Amino acid sequence: MSIEIRNISKSFGSFQALKGIDLTIGSGELVALLGPSGCGKTTLLRIIAGLEAADSGQILFHGEDTTHRHVRERQVGFVFQHYALFRHMSVFENIAFGLRVRPRGRRPPEAEIRRRVHELLELVQLDWLADRYPGQLSGGQRQRIALARALAVEPKVLLLDEPFGALDAKVRQDLRRWLRRLHDELHITSVFVTHDQEEALEVADRVVVLNGGQIEQVGSADEVYDHPATPFVCQFIGDVNLFHGRVHDGRAHIGDTVIDLPGIAESDAEQALFFARPHEIEIGGGTGIGAVVRDIRRRGNAVRVELERKDGQGPVEAELSREAFGRHAIKHGDEVVIQPNRIRVFQP
Ligand code: ATP
Repeated sequence: MSIEIRNISKSFGSFQALKGIDLTIGSGELVALLGPSGCGKTTLLRIIAGLEAADSGQILFHGEDTTHRHVRERQVGFVFQHYALFRHMSVFENIAFGLRVRPRGRRPPEAEIRRRVHELLELVQLDWLADRYPGQLSGGQRQRIALARALAVEPKVLLLDEPFGALDAKVRQDLRRWLRRLHDELHITSVFVTHDQEEALEVADRVVVLNGGQIEQVGSADEVYDHPATPFVCQFIGDVNLFHGRVHDGRAHIGDTVIDLPGIAESDAEQALFFARPHEIEIGGGTGIGAVVRDIRRRGNAVRVELERKDGQGPVEAELSREAFGRHAIKHGDEVVIQPNRIRVFQP
């Protein structure tokens, strides 16, 4: 089922939480709503669900206006950050719940309910936990059960609000991969809220970056990472260094340093904003921007070097492999030359 979001706005008192959101989500797509705290992710998800009414705009499911449809008629399944499992019911009964509370005519017979619940338990790979109670499960297991419960009623759309937010890093990572695989199997149109860029990039087909109630960019993981549309997206999706300078003859001029710009020829601009990721900064070797080493931190197999530009134009963060770091023998306080090996410009 496709979802079309048309010019949705929402205010709480005088605060405008969503400012004219337009977005189309394809049938079977897994989309992440990504942005900092308070940017309106949850509000948008709740409006899609029908749990919250928009002030203006429309939500279409499969081309049909659902704006005034009740939550129950929208055929959406939810999973929230704080697993809302019923504590006094077994795992089996939790998953069966949505089917049992259906009105008489639409309620499947008991044998069918049992079959469906076991199918779902197998799908989330927790068949062996059917008789346990939520209190006897780990956080990650509870979230998988919550997902099985949401799927029991065969929703056309699955909405997930920071589903792994309360779990520790390792479990989160496992569950991301697991969710991705599950989605590849089921192809249910899914919208996933997260403030964690890594999670969004890893799980989603497309990422919607929100900021201050507006969409900054919609794109694949590669698009938002490599071709951020705005400085906000660039800084939100991973660490980045910004450089002010100018474009002349298709090259970047930053202070006295001249760097080739890849790809399409840029037209000359007296004021331009460039960016490079930390792993795209090289230290040493000929010409470049003068800087002083301020801090050195190990990060797994890489080394992060924090530098201060000598022209006072702010800090630069470089990421070197351990090898490169060893080769340069960099120490705190060293005066070095840095050179981005790849730099891109924002259109002025
Ligand atoms: P977080 O990641 O912190 O959950 P979010 O991006 O999901 O943030 P929302 O929960 O959508 O943000 O909230 C967007 C803005 O609207 C916030 O500034 C919030 O304070 C405000 N807001 C949300 N719900 C209400 C409400 N019921 N009444 C008043 N203000 C609200």
